[in-house]
Amino acid sequence: MGRMGARVSDRIGAIAESATLAVDAKAKALKAAGRPVIGFGAGEPDFPTPDYIVEAAVAAARQPKYHRYTPVAGLPELREAIAAKTLRDTGYSVGAAQVLVTNGGKQAVYNAFATLLDPGDEVLLVAPYWTTYPEAIKLAGGVPVEVVTDETSGYLATVEQLEAARTDRTKVLLFVSPSNPTGAVYAPEDVAAIGAWANEHGLWTVTDEIYEHLVYGGATMTSIAHTAGEQVVVLNGVAKTYAMTGWRVGWMIGPTDVIKAASNLQSHATSNVSNVAQVAALTAVSGDLSAVAEMRSAFDRRRQLAVQLLREIPGVICPEPQGAFYVYPSVKGLLGRPLRGRTAADSAELANLILDEVEVAVVPGEAFGTPGYVRLSYALGDDDLAEGIGRIAKLVADS
Ligand code: PMP
Repeated sequence: MGRMGARVSDRIGAIAESATLAVDAKAKALKAAGRPVIGFGAGEPDFPTPDYIVEAAVAAARQPKYHRYTPVAGLPELREAIAAKTLRDTGYSVGAAQVLVTNGGKQAVYNAFATLLDPGDEVLLVAPYWTTYPEAIKLAGGVPVEVVTDETSGYLATVEQLEAARTDRTKVLLFVSPSNPTGAVYAPEDVAAIGAWANEHGLWTVTDEIYEHLVYGGATMTSIAHTAGEQVVVLNGVAKTYAMTGWRVGWMIGPTDVIKAASNLQSHATSNVSNVAQVAALTAVSGDLSAVAEMRSAFDRRRQLAVQLLREIPGVICPEPQGAFYVYPSVKGLLGRPLRGRTAADSAELANLILDEVEVAVVPGEAFGTPGYVRLSYALGDDDLAEGIGRIAKLVADS
């Protein structure tokens, strides 16, 4: 007889389902059942992976050397190429030994917190936050400490707010710019101030740079790695830049001892990332940025359209995002009032109401630590974008 008690451990039982994936799954199921659902849930580009990347993967699949185990930390040539690409794109200079190739950015997030945190260590997490962060922090025994921002600051946190949340147990600042879910991008001087503050207090800075190439208008992406001192871990991946979400290649960059420890963890969890996917990633990061430039101009057009259409809906407040491919409007003005005879008390109920009544999927702010908002991804076709927001507008107008 084994141990009596719960079938699932407390640690795993406490994990919340990924709300973003859940909304996406519900929308896709309705669509498969023939419903004309428009999904704003998915955090992925709607473009196919560029051909030259796919072709490199096809050729790799035919080479027997890629049918075998390869080094846990990644193909040496890919680790070199990621170091070179990091210097090219953010001016941050690292060696190949500082790079660990992971199964998507998500495993990089998981590895980073598992490697840095002891039980009770606190992580400063700016809310609204990407739904995976608090779960990854808690799985590592850490404590997420939320620093809440709102639309009045464009969802940007200040050094004063961060300092107010810092305690003796604070070990890590998690910094994300451009942000999922808000699309907020920190100005270079704010990045520098926050980095200097983290360094001054001996914190580790974990910087998630997966949306580095998706910035619009006058905004620029600045890596906090330059100003945060030696205790920096950079998380990134090919998913968003090269429309490669399904290939599952990301990476973690840090001091060599941290990367070695994280590789040890990965050696027992997943071993090397699929070689075919690594060769695809190698081709992506060694090539130019023309594919992402094309996607960026399409996203920029949709971003402006989404903001314009959302701002026309009474009760919706929509700051203009500067990066990624999300808008994060406040919908507080739509709560507690009848919409087609139904009333949503919170944004989770509102998202359900919108899906039921007009077959449009949005992700409620509850998933990102801030009820009263919804996230819409504008990584979908222009026509669907206009139709989807139009349906929400009509729902509100008719009521
Ligand atoms: N970081 C952020 C901020 C993200 O939005 C995502 C994807 N939603 C990831 C990391 C992970 O991306 P992936 O695992 O697909 O590489």
